[in-house]
Amino acid sequence: LAHRPTLAAVEQARTAFVQAEWTAAPVLATDAPVATPRKVTNPANPEETVGEVTFATPETVSTAVTAAQPWDTDPTQRRRVLEAAADLYETHYGEIFALLAREAGKSLPDAVAELREAVDFLRYYAARADAEPPRGVFACISPWNFPLAIFTGQISAALAAGNAVLAKPAEQTSLIAARAVALLHEAGVPQSALQLLPGEGDVGAALTSDPGIDGVAFTGSTQTAQLIHRAMAENLAPGAPLIAETGGLNAMIVDSTALPEQAVDAIVESAFQSAGQRCSALRCLYVQEDIADGFTEMLTGAMDALKLGAPWNLSTDVGPVIDEEARQGIADYIEAARADGRVVKELPIPGRGHFVPPVLIRVNSIADMDREIFGPVLHIATFKSRDLDKVIDTINATGYGLTFGLQTRIDDRVQHVTDRIHAGNVYVNRNQIGAIVGSQPFGGEGMSGTGPKAGGPHYLPRFQSRTVDAVTGEW
Ligand code: NAD
Repeated sequence: LAHRPTLAAVEQARTAFVQAEWTAAPVLATDAPVATPRKVTNPANPEETVGEVTFATPETVSTAVTAAQPWDTDPTQRRRVLEAAADLYETHYGEIFALLAREAGKSLPDAVAELREAVDFLRYYAARADAEPPRGVFACISPWNFPLAIFTGQISAALAAGNAVLAKPAEQTSLIAARAVALLHEAGVPQSALQLLPGEGDVGAALTSDPGIDGVAFTGSTQTAQLIHRAMAENLAPGAPLIAETGGLNAMIVDSTALPEQAVDAIVESAFQSAGQRCSALRCLYVQEDIADGFTEMLTGAMDALKLGAPWNLSTDVGPVIDEEARQGIADYIEAARADGRVVKELPIPGRGHFVPPVLIRVNSIADMDREIFGPVLHIATFKSRDLDKVIDTINATGYGLTFGLQTRIDDRVQHVTDRIHAGNVYVNRNQIGAIVGSQPFGGEGMSGTGPKAGGPHYLPRFQSRTVDAVTGEW
């Protein structure tokens, strides 16, 4: 942050908003019907009301699409306004941290990193605004797990390119989205260029099948991306792009030469930070058989040291999951593994609220996992050194390709494995979560996304009316 607040200053600013209640409602350039308001509660303490949200309905959508007008101004002006929005985000850090903690259950370190990323997206795409013509009207549909950073990243690229945006945040995190849109409008983005449509999946479905939409930016599950792909094919012009960033089944391989402390730290962070609610999170760990027993003991010891609890406690490592539906789904999955005797380690539930304590589950291979479990659930398998290539092939065969981690001290092996693995983001001898706007862009392959990577040079051009260069393949 430009202001570099100390944790004490952050805490002071955040507590100023503990009593606050926020509201969110469609922000439209014209009048349209909306649904009845509903209460928003805190995932760590469901009895606490955080605010109230009024959802759009599928009927709101066509009115909003008709009212949308591309941001037809010179690029210098767009750049200036988006920079001003970045400044406003930073100025309001205390309120933003409070919102991220109370609506999305984010710990303070997560909230700090998320605001940083959102501001970086604004400045990065602002700096790249140029005179290329926009596509027109973009639907930007985002998930709840990075309710500020991903929401802002999609919108700021679409706006920097001069499009009109209809933003559909995840139903779980409308208050954060409403605050972000208010700051963007305050900075000078015209209302007709940025409208907010809080709502459930049906609002997203109505958006992505409205013929007035010229392109869709989507981040969320692979299943939803497939529905959107179909809806667009049936209703939108054939050239309308879908920029999708989706789920993963992310693996890490630890061989017998790995530095064990380094590997354990990386694993615990990758699997359990943000309660495992990151698309990049480690889901399946492969440990070389020779070291598996001792290594598993170290890993379960490190799990014991994790502090579970409310996100606003500075000592908390793992907070709640997003809502009761998510908690129940993950708990049912763990229960099935428990019944099969496959749970290696689990921690006690820290209190009321939507908590799922971190858990370690034994599997034979990543092929035993039929879907992404979006929570603090780590699977562990072992492998023999001679089977390394088979392991890589099995990981590739899942069809996903988001993140992959490797822990080894053999240089040739780094080359061999990274040449063979299909993943958008490969991390060697470190944790496997994290992206840095501008220097470490993020995006997956196969069922994990269409590319181009967010926060990289090819992302913004997809929001413009450029064509592919027949020779270089570049946009
Ligand atoms: P989700 O797919 O359930 O929802 C994402 C968004 O799509 C929400 O706004 C939702 O309302 C909307 N939606 C639902 N049905 C729709 C439909 N039929 N048409 C249009 N929109 C619809 O995902 P989620 O639970 O919010 O987020 C978690 C998922 O997101 C995980 O799978 C995670 O891996 C993925 N994710 C991927 C990345 C990445 O960069 N690759 C980043 C974050 C999250």
